[in-house]
Amino acid sequence: MMASPAPGAGARPLKIAVFAGDGIGPEVMAEAVKVLKAVESRFGLAFELTHGLVGGAAYDATGHPLPPETIALARSSDAVLFGAVGGDQWDHLPLHLRPEAAILGLRKAFDLYANLRPSVTHRQLLHRSPLKAEILGDGVDLLIVRELTGGLYFGQPKGQQVYEGVERTVDTLVYTDAEIERVARLAFDLARARARRLCSVDKANVLATGRRWREVVTRVAADYPDVALSHMYVDNCAMQLIRNPRQFDVIVTENTFGDILTDESSTIPGSIGLLPSASVGAGGLALYEPIHGSAPDIAGQGKANPLATILCVAMMLRTSFGQEEAARAVEEAVSKVLDLGYRTPDLLDSGCETVGTVRMGDLVAAQI
Ligand code: NAD
Repeated sequence: MMASPAPGAGARPLKIAVFAGDGIGPEVMAEAVKVLKAVESRFGLAFELTHGLVGGAAYDATGHPLPPETIALARSSDAVLFGAVGGDQWDHLPLHLRPEAAILGLRKAFDLYANLRPSVTHRQLLHRSPLKAEILGDGVDLLIVRELTGGLYFGQPKGQQVYEGVERTVDTLVYTDAEIERVARLAFDLARARARRLCSVDKANVLATGRRWREVVTRVAADYPDVALSHMYVDNCAMQLIRNPRQFDVIVTENTFGDILTDESSTIPGSIGLLPSASVGAGGLALYEPIHGSAPDIAGQGKANPLATILCVAMMLRTSFGQEEAARAVEEAVSKVLDLGYRTPDLLDSGCETVGTVRMGDLVAAQI
């Protein structure tokens, strides 16, 4: 897949660009970096971390949410760790200068064509899920791979037009075979490293792009005889994620369907503060970020949950660097801290000890 070889003796360090951003971004990022340092010493790895400005913080310092130096830093890195951007103080700015423009800018600059969104329950927190215990069983572990740069969001023509004297508005759903094939290959590779089941989600019963999507994914499957491929219509998938999410291992789908299904699946684990994600680029660069935003309502109070960003470190170790053992160590450290009964306020449970952002980071790092 995209993993770089592990650095051996004398190998250059793995370069990680760290973009903490705004609001709780810097708070949760500091804890992820702490965990990364613990991994570095335990596993004899070498990381070179360089911090860059992004979002509102970058706008205040340079007049742009994604300055050229930030793009250059990402370009010279092996992976990007991203916190969160945004805040009320920048909401008056024109769209291209708002902090959130940095996310779209990075997607464009690095052709980040696939979004990886795991939805994994933690056994200590199953009761926080909106799903019933009998549906969750001993837990859910699924991964949605969403195509990120094609389809309805970018297809041309787009916008208002007059056609045969009638005012109308158009969005265009278009996919090239190559766009479908590259995201399908990524999804098959990811399935191969998991339970070897891939469900391709489309609307082949109605949409021409859906039919072609199914044909191309089926063709790619010939190169992955060890992965069981199934197909599902998107409307059924939306139901199945609630009725029986445990049937899924990896799901691959197009941009719009993926936008909706990933948000649906992100509710299963029970808190927005638990979920990491990755966006994978055509050049091999991947950007790892928690799915939550900058949470201005709790910024500066030391109570943000850093686990989503810490779990981004695990995703990065596995997906970009091929360091499965180190990735598992981070995930197991998180699980151990939850076993010990420590919770940030978003996960508050009776009988558990409430800890802040920094203490949670310390506890996880100590378990590595
Ligand atoms: P949000 O995700 O920031 O917050 C939603 C709710 O979840 C808030 O109540 C917040 O306190 C809580 N929350 C979020 N992360 C948490 C954590 N780690 N621990 C505990 N609680 C957490 O979404 P929002 O309020 O809609 O947006 C706030 C700002 O973030 C806006 O400016 C928005 O544009 C931006 N945003 C950025 C990203 C990104 O950087 N990728 C994503 C979404 C929203």
